[in-house]
Amino acid sequence: ETAAPAYSRVLLKISGEALMGDQGFGLHPPTVQRIAEEVAAVQRMGVEVCLVIGGGNIFRGLQGSAQGMERTTADYMGMLATVMNALAMQGALEALGLHTRVISAIPMDQVCEPYIRRRAVRHLEKKRIVIFAAGTGNPYFTTDTAAALRANEMACKAILMGKNGTDGVYDKDPRIHPDAVRYDRVTYDEVLSKHLKVMDASAIALARENRLPIIVFSLDAPGGFKAILQGQGTYTRVE
Ligand code: UDP
Repeated sequence: ETAAPAYSRVLLKISGEALMGDQGFGLHPPTVQRIAEEVAAVQRMGVEVCLVIGGGNIFRGLQGSAQGMERTTADYMGMLATVMNALAMQGALEALGLHTRVISAIPMDQVCEPYIRRRAVRHLEKKRIVIFAAGTGNPYFTTDTAAALRANEMACKAILMGKNGTDGVYDKDPRIHPDAVRYDRVTYDEVLSKHLKVMDASAIALARENRLPIIVFSLDAPGGFKAILQGQGTYTRVE
């Protein structure tokens, strides 16, 4: 295990649903702890780790607006949900003895730090795990876009999309089509033109702008995140 990690600085994006276990809603502490261990294994390799966690396990703006709520209000609620997830993850990581900072796009100084780019970079240089919360801070965006934005700003070498229930990008839905084929590599343009499920279109466009590779892999099996940094495992690389 002496080879240098495949990427020296990465941003791991997980959906909020990755933290709910099989409860169907909210936070499942043992699942949060399991993901924290995945992150810890990579941090211990000397990799600088950024995290973006969605909020869909608690609240999604589109759901709220479908039920008559004003879209912007519902989106702010979704962003607040990501802060709750970030705090839960911070607690789990610190229980493992790791140093972390939660940095929110919406200032809430009693709870976490506000987003200041240079300060966030400094945390990474000091090998602290930086958890970016509250998405981009703007309604009508998603945490996928926040992940692509922060990964660019932090000069990450790759965005790692940790998925549940899939180990990459397929040409069609493998749950419906048994003959679906997983791509080893696929271009940003193909993802957009074929509407492949990786990240939303604005996030893909943002990654394409700086040719930031997106690695789609499974978080289901233990050690999956570390395997990617070791240049192993199953994944799709969007480039
Ligand atoms: N959200 C937002 N702006 C952002 C990021 C998130 O308004 O920059 C809101 C939006 O309502 C979204 C919710 O936060 O539905 C939760 O984020 P997301 O749906 O991306 O979470 P995930 O699906 O990854 O769990």
